[in-house]
Amino acid sequence: MERAVARIDFDAVAANCARLKAELGEAELCAVVKADGYGHGADGCAEAALAGGATRLAVATAVEAAQIGRRFQHIPLLTMGALTEAEVDVTLSAGSELTVWREDFRRLVAARARAQGRPARIHVKHDSGMGRLGNPDPEGVVELARACAADPDLELAGVWTHFATADEPESGYFDEQLGRFETVAATVRSEFPEVTVHAANSAAVFLDSRSHFDMARCGVAIYGLDPFQGDPVDRGLRPALSLRSYVADVKHFRVGASAGYGQRWAAAIETWVGVIPLGYGDGIRRGLTNNAEVLVRGHRRPLVGTVSMDNVTIDLGPETQVRPGDEVVLIGVQGEEEIRAEELAARLGTINYEITCGISARVPRRPA
Ligand SMILES: *Cc1c(COP(=O)(O)O)cnc(C)c1O
Repeated sequence: MERAVARIDFDAVAANCARLKAELGEAELCAVVKADGYGHGADGCAEAALAGGATRLAVATAVEAAQIGRRFQHIPLLTMGALTEAEVDVTLSAGSELTVWREDFRRLVAARARAQGRPARIHVKHDSGMGRLGNPDPEGVVELARACAADPDLELAGVWTHFATADEPESGYFDEQLGRFETVAATVRSEFPEVTVHAANSAAVFLDSRSHFDMARCGVAIYGLDPFQGDPVDRGLRPALSLRSYVADVKHFRVGASAGYGQRWAAAIETWVGVIPLGYGDGIRRGLTNNAEVLVRGHRRPLVGTVSMDNVTIDLGPETQVRPGDEVVLIGVQGEEEIRAEELAARLGTINYEITCGISARVPRRPA
């Protein structure tokens, strides 16, 4: 029994990678383990992903690159995000490949690579329509690729883009972005045949095989979360994370007795209330107040009253077998019942990504 724990099924992560790899065929799978593996623990998930068929890793930040690069020195690692000058040094020291989309930044990376005595491997990014990082000018992308290839302090490793609407199957915008990127990729490939061309995230892998190119960068699906906010099992994915706690107390409530800050719930009939010792300090969002269910003794029970930092309360009903010490599942399977991250996301008007990323550092991650 633990106050709060996230159990991670690493076999599920490996199986999800094998599932994606089957979809990808020849194209490589790059496992995205940013944000501590979407809240699942980056190191353990990276290892499981590699066992499942991923051959590369990607992160967003320099600090993440330092952590992953130290642990997986032999595996190609890409840092996808923007970097400050100091972060360029950290990223290069970690042995990571970097993203470039501006000439001034390309020069900076070349200078820092020269100072470190080892050429930097560069992925030139095209903004084909996300409207965020990347060079929006196709000719500019090609020029940057040439400049990287010609610079003795750099190696041209990749050319890439990122989709804004791959999770919206009816979106014509996806096709527009793909079309723009195909043109850029073809030009770069004709001059530099060994360059790695990549575009797809998890959703794109399932949506359209034309997006696979040489490699896909998959995050959410490797954790068994559905990129389309539907049922991951329908896509052959296995949710890897469960979030567990226990019943710290069970108390009798008379009609009208209230639970939690602001008296946002009161017993309409005589009932029993269970107190679970975790809250928004652990990532159980306050927006779930009177708006979620948990599993105890294999049954769904409603969360009642305000979610506080360290406690939530659940209504156990007028007759209950539940006792202090019983296990509580907030995400995951218990008996015949299951609560998915997608269910909590729908209740909060957000996406599954934010649910697992939001589980705080106060919750230990342990193997299932
Ligand atoms: C996070 C991220 C990914 C992974 O996306 P998923 O939808 O989780 O598969 C891929 N590419 C970039 C640039 C990212 O930032």
